[in-house]
Amino acid sequence: MSKNKILIAGNWKMNKTSAEAKSLCAEIVAGLAGQNKIEVAVCPPFTALESAAGALKGSNVVLGAQNVYVKADGAYTGEISTGMLVEVGCKTVILGHSERRQYFSETDAFINEKAAVALKAGLMPIICVGETLAEREAGKTLDVVTTQTVGTLKGFTAADAAKIVIAYEPVWAIGTGRVATPAMAQEVHAVIRKLLVQQFGEAGNGVRILYGGSMKPDNASELLDQPDIDGGLIGGASLKARSFLELVTIAKSKV
Ligand code: PEP
Repeated sequence: MSKNKILIAGNWKMNKTSAEAKSLCAEIVAGLAGQNKIEVAVCPPFTALESAAGALKGSNVVLGAQNVYVKADGAYTGEISTGMLVEVGCKTVILGHSERRQYFSETDAFINEKAAVALKAGLMPIICVGETLAEREAGKTLDVVTTQTVGTLKGFTAADAAKIVIAYEPVWAIGTGRVATPAMAQEVHAVIRKLLVQQFGEAGNGVRILYGGSMKPDNASELLDQPDIDGGLIGGASLKARSFLELVTIAKSKV
């Protein structure tokens, strides 16, 4: 059983129009019926944040974005600031997703900078780490995840820890249907936990570490049973109310 409040967060990626987001959020809110045993978040694309915020109003579903830029405003074509996210109702933001690392060359230092501006703006950063298949096969998983965790958390204090979430997402498991076994995931989560405690002291035990990578209703229970898995970052299964709500029900049963 997880010690920390479980977080189930949906990463919608580049899916759902504004209208589609509105109806999916409405279905999620209706299905949750005001539960507060666990924390639930959805992260639509930027263009759907406003309609999602409207549909989530009055519920305890947290709204999040999938990225943010480090500057407050100015000549940064195509970018979005923390202030813009806060204004539309976001409380959290996914940072350093492997797709951003892979397709947009995001580095640990840049993700660290983004996490700092997110925290300053009162947004809870969900910082993603995880190894590629080649790295796992080369036996480098723990080294890679250690480097990413230390690099993205540089400079943060125990006071920041309460507002930070880490998501361990093995790249080879994202969107592939290939899920890490609970033991494989727990091994990495335990290493991340150790790093968190090294940096933050006791507060490191309170940092939630989510698992992400093909988490679905049929594999979530065993993953959530692991001592250092505090929830899930869900891609594909968050795009349909039914599977997302099923995941929430499974997570609730662990509390
Ligand atoms: C993700 O991209 O964060 C993710 C976990 O995707 P999926 O659940 O589809 O593997």
